Amino acid sequence: MNCEKIMKQYLEHDHTRPTPLKVRVHFMFCKKCRREAELLMDSISGIKGTAPFHLNENITDSIMLGILLTGRSYSRHVRTSHWVIAGAVILSSIFMVSYSSSAIWISCHFGRSFELPLHLVLGISISAYVSLFIGSLVVSYRVKGESNNGHKGM
Ligand SMILES: [Zn+2]
Repeated sequence: MNCEKIMKQYLEHDHTRPTPLKVRVHFMFCKKCRREAELLMDSISGIKGTAPFHLNENITDSIMLGILLTGRSYSRHVRTSHWVIAGAVILSSIFMVSYSSSAIWISCHFGRSFELPLHLVLGISISAYVSLFIGSLVVSYRVKGESNNGHKGM
């Protein structure tokens, strides 16, 4: 099952960019998938070598411009209510972790030395959440601003 997911991810990624770390790590340990990927790359390079025509110019820019001009948005919008729920879950987790039985058990076995890493992780997670939330707000306001300007121009 994991091999299928990895191969799907490998096939879907843009092969002009570096292979994702997760896929590379899997290939390092899974001989079957590594062999399958090598066969695939050999086949593709063989096909490229026998192509009946060769493009002299790079048409990537014109294709990407055509996609951009369709006006279709590929961004994913997260509802504000989902952001609020996620933030409430993170904040309540931070407050409740101090009183959880697991934290008390860990504290009894390892002393207080685990608290600093735990609170660093919690602090990083809430900082990442706030950064993503603010970033999504900025992006959504920009998109709204661009669409309003586009309607005024027409
Ligand atoms: Zn595998």
